[in-house]
Amino acid sequence: MGLAQFRTFSLVHRPTPLEHLKQLSAALGGPEIYIKRDDCTGLAFGGNKTRKLEFLIGDALEKSATTIVSVGSMQSNHVRQTAAAAVKAGLKCELVLDWQVPWTQAAYGNSGNILLDRLLGATVHLCSKDEGRNDKADEVMAAIEARGEKGYFIPTGGSNAVGSLGYVDCAIEIMDQAKHQNIKVDHVVLASGSGGTQAGMMVGLAGTDSGISCIGIDIDHDPVGVRAEVTRIAAQTAELLGISPQTTFELAEGYGAPEYGMPNDKTIAAITQLAQTEAIILDPVYTGKAMAGLIDLIAKNRFGKDESVVFVHTGGGPGLFAYSSIFENTP
Ligand SMILES: *Cc1c(COP(=O)(O)O)cnc(C)c1O
Repeated sequence: MGLAQFRTFSLVHRPTPLEHLKQLSAALGGPEIYIKRDDCTGLAFGGNKTRKLEFLIGDALEKSATTIVSVGSMQSNHVRQTAAAAVKAGLKCELVLDWQVPWTQAAYGNSGNILLDRLLGATVHLCSKDEGRNDKADEVMAAIEARGEKGYFIPTGGSNAVGSLGYVDCAIEIMDQAKHQNIKVDHVVLASGSGGTQAGMMVGLAGTDSGISCIGIDIDHDPVGVRAEVTRIAAQTAELLGISPQTTFELAEGYGAPEYGMPNDKTIAAITQLAQTEAIILDPVYTGKAMAGLIDLIAKNRFGKDESVVFVHTGGGPGLFAYSSIFENTP
């Protein structure tokens, strides 16, 4: 697919495991379910952003940047992995974070990902509700340039064409593993938020004529917005690779309510079920919603019983600790 032409900075423990969820598959009575363990990418508690950052940090080094700047919510998994990647690459890191999510537990502001951002030495700029985090990031970039240093800005979720190359790479890794493990994969299912993960996966699966479908689950409760972002980023990623754009993909909606960062009852049930059937730890913002979507799609017979589905575990575990009050009475 031509990935070798891009400079990368090695961060991922690869390949991440591709495991059979035997007990969950039996319990749901549908297709065979496999899980791609991208929660185990290895960098500071792992997650999907680490693959994107291999290409983004490579690009930053190519451009002789000294400081990485990025944005996100207080419990962003993306900025935590960005802070860690910057440490590994010997770069400085400044983060602009907001607390837009209406979750008021104190841990949201001092535990989980934000604790790790600070521990990793990133400079954290908190952004009030009325300041846009991208506007504030522009100011941070300008201040860096004014000091005579060079900033490199990474957008929300690391979702642009360069970042998405990490999931083109993941698509190829899944196909190689499936071949060696004798699994015929029919569908890949993943959480879709800022869109770069699904865009890259889709370009990778389509660009190799794999015949594997890529189903995103909208975790933002904004299917129109997410669909537009996946479409835009996929087109730019294909262009970067010099291949023809792939525009057909599926985004399943109805699992993201009430809004980004806020789990619903089915999210919590899916997190509990996966912990207690497979010892897989999901999170309330992304993977819990995506798994609830997969469980519901199976109930609605979206997949044949003889098919195989790969669920991509995109990480997010540290965020769970910001939502501890949900689980006080579990089981
Ligand atoms: C960012 C993130 C996603 C979504 O990936 P996008 O590329 O933003 O669509 C899914 N799961 C977790 C845990 C994430 O942190």
